[in-house]
Amino acid sequence: MRGMIKKNRAIDNVLLVAALLAALSACSGGRTAAETIITNAKVYTVNPARPWAEAVAIREGRILAVGAAKDVLRHKASQSRVIDAGGRLLLPGFEDSHVHFVSGSANLGMIDLAGTKTVEEIQGRIRAFVQENPGSAWVQGRGWMYPAFPGHMPHKKFLDEVVPDRPACMRCADGHSSWVNSRALALAGIGRDTKDPENGKIVRDGKGEPTGALLESASSLVSALIPEPTPEETLADIRRGLRETARLGVVRVHGLGGEFEALDLLDRIRREGGLTTRFTVTMWVDSPGPADKDWKAYEDARTKFHDEWLAVDGIKMMLDGVIDSGTGAMLDPYESERENRGKLFWEPEAFKKAVAEINAKGLQVSTHSIGDAAIRLTLDAYEEGLRAAGNPDLRNKIEHAEDIAAEDIPRFGRLGVIGSFQPLHANPEPGWIGAWIKNVGPEREQRAFAWKAVLDGGGRLAFGSDWPVVTVSPWPGLQVAVTRQDLEGLPAGGWLPQHKVSLSEAVHAYTMGGAYAMHREKDEGSIEAGKLADLILVSQNIFEVDPHKIAETKVLLTIVGGKVVHDAR
Ligand SMILES: [Zn+2]
Repeated sequence: MRGMIKKNRAIDNVLLVAALLAALSACSGGRTAAETIITNAKVYTVNPARPWAEAVAIREGRILAVGAAKDVLRHKASQSRVIDAGGRLLLPGFEDSHVHFVSGSANLGMIDLAGTKTVEEIQGRIRAFVQENPGSAWVQGRGWMYPAFPGHMPHKKFLDEVVPDRPACMRCADGHSSWVNSRALALAGIGRDTKDPENGKIVRDGKGEPTGALLESASSLVSALIPEPTPEETLADIRRGLRETARLGVVRVHGLGGEFEALDLLDRIRREGGLTTRFTVTMWVDSPGPADKDWKAYEDARTKFHDEWLAVDGIKMMLDGVIDSGTGAMLDPYESERENRGKLFWEPEAFKKAVAEINAKGLQVSTHSIGDAAIRLTLDAYEEGLRAAGNPDLRNKIEHAEDIAAEDIPRFGRLGVIGSFQPLHANPEPGWIGAWIKNVGPEREQRAFAWKAVLDGGGRLAFGSDWPVVTVSPWPGLQVAVTRQDLEGLPAGGWLPQHKVSLSEAVHAYTMGGAYAMHREKDEGSIEAGKLADLILVSQNIFEVDPHKIAETKVLLTIVGGKVVHDAR
């Protein structure tokens, strides 16, 4: 007994000495010691009270101090690591408010058709992949856009020419359509007698023969036949995706489809210490709204995952298609097809009821709404949902909001609805946006991607990519947001330049705007003492360079939670 007491005392003394030593080493001249100090930087803080600084000190994953170098360096102790930024720009890490992380990651291993402008170019990339991968049972790719093809729609014959022997499926960049070859059509049993599925369309030629273009839900007639990746394959994909986001300076993503099903894999990577991007994950709900089993799945996931790395938060819904293929829900008919207004994917009353039920639980809704009719119904539902919930701070989001009716623009500000936009989707390159412009016609074109109007109306912006629709890199998006020009600088003066935002507004939408949209603004989104140390050091000062060069920005250093996760210095 005595011996035991003595021994305990000895342990107490050891602990006391250790605590004293820790306290001493944590102080330097009476100041808390930093683990890392980044100095000689141009720090753009995104804190309006103090937008610029020279140095940042980090301790235990958070920002200890930010300010003038001489003040911050007072936190330097013998063990502090000091990073000389060489006068370069330091920004808060970027937050992407709309991704599909798992499919984005998987796509990194498929044929990349992004940016292709002609059938020849598309066939060239497919041919090269097929030659390098002779064994794959399916040939898969992604990233084509409608204007690359005659009549703005792909045809199976172009795919048969390069992949005659195996089924092939190429997803459109927008994720809403597929282009398949004859082998894939035969395998799926799609012929002239096959009926269109609900919310989908099998495009046919004048003789009723399927052409190989499958719109909306018709894509799943073929995609359902493609073997699912194994969990090990998905893990490998996600790890590749994490390297990509770290490399590009993205420190948090809002997962709006596919991540909920991958939570356990993300958690496995986290437990192994490999999670380098933070995740806010929504649960996807289709018409007619969440059932009891969905709520059970949500509550279980939320109970498990609710911290600063991996948090389940909110519900994703989808109300219409896309304007480019004529499936976005419009108030008036399409200019190019006078009998078509697109279609809502939900009955309006069922949609409103679902929003009210979700909001009443205090949960945020993110709805994909692109056409002006879908946007209006979403705003109506959010207005009623807020009233029912009695909570004005739900931060409901509208995803894409590509063509908002003029009278609905001020409702974003009034209802506290977040405009979740992807600036690169407004890239005015004709091969990308041509079909969009043709379909809405000249009058509705004027209100295309009206970021600035939403902002001026008191609305908040959150920028992102919708990866894999476009690259998860925020840098070309940032350039388009401030220029409204394609990456070659066209058209001169910008496409509808009244919708440009300033660079500080755009950076805000990629940082604080995202943090706010994901309920993380107290902890993230700006460089302020006490916030998480999520920082990026970049190759050029985007506030000084020609705005047409912003897309060339390289991320030299990505720090998440005080840890370097990418270093290209
Ligand atoms: Zn999406």
